Amino acid sequence: TAQRALARAHEDAVTTDGVRVPVLANVSTLADARESERFGADGVGLLRSEILYSSRVDAPSAEEQAAAYVEIARALGGRPVTIRTWDAGADKPLAFVPTGTPDNPAMALRGIRAMRLAEDVFAEQLRAVLLAARDADVRVMFPMVSSADDVTWARGVLDAVQRELGAGPVPVGIMVEVPVVALRAGDFAGIVDFASVGTNDLAQYAGAADRTDPDVGGLARQDDPAVLELIRLTCAGLPGVDVAVCGDLAGDTTQTATLLRLGVAELSASPTRIPEVKQAVRGVHRGELA
Ligand code: PEP
Ligand code: MG
Repeated sequence: TAQRALARAHEDAVTTDGVRVPVLANVSTLADARESERFGADGVGLLRSEILYSSRVDAPSAEEQAAAYVEIARALGGRPVTIRTWDAGADKPLAFVPTGTPDNPAMALRGIRAMRLAEDVFAEQLRAVLLAARDADVRVMFPMVSSADDVTWARGVLDAVQRELGAGPVPVGIMVEVPVVALRAGDFAGIVDFASVGTNDLAQYAGAADRTDPDVGGLARQDDPAVLELIRLTCAGLPGVDVAVCGDLAGDTTQTATLLRLGVAELSASPTRIPEVKQAVRGVHRGELA
């Protein structure tokens, strides 16, 4: 069975009722990108840019980043690459993004929240995304969004950089990781082109269990019915918007049918999980969405 999945890794994943489900990869390095191509990824659903540059003291220039993003896109044969902007803070510190010394790092400055206090660093990364878009199919995604205002702010910075470069638009998405966003997904209709549910963090916040704490991390299960309900609400609140799942839940083939029936349109998993996730999709009858 694992053998059969591997043999079909480069074929599209289509449900028994004819719904094609892109299965993309979560990658942090060029090596990951190459591996994901070998495992049949339909693109990159989550590029963890902060891991790519985790050893850097100073922020990489837009040109340097763009070259790296284009190289990753080429490794995927030109398939789409979803660049997550710096998700600095908590479990993913970055030397060039200040996040303070909070008592509760997961609840403190992280991702887009930290960017709002470091606009220059953020603008430089968006410049990189737009430069990369000249040579690759890229989209941009903001982590740790907790309000529509976060998106409005980020889009404002993106618009300014776009004008400065005379660049065209790129698809803009958010990660759904904070429960209030899932509960109020409709507030994001019209301001996002796509959304991707980060179930690693969504489970952590929904279950109030620090993912890095061995004593409680296991309490927050990603397949908990409450987490699945938050995914359902995300899909229901954003009709016409593609909702992906990119947390570890996307690689759990016991949940593939459930996710597709809730309205999830795309899955993004660790490279080695892709063949089996595609195979799981092929066994699902999704049916009409509610
Ligand atoms: C997530 O939170 O589910 C996610 C995909 O992002 P990360 O694991 O990098 O925080
Ligand atoms: Mg996350």
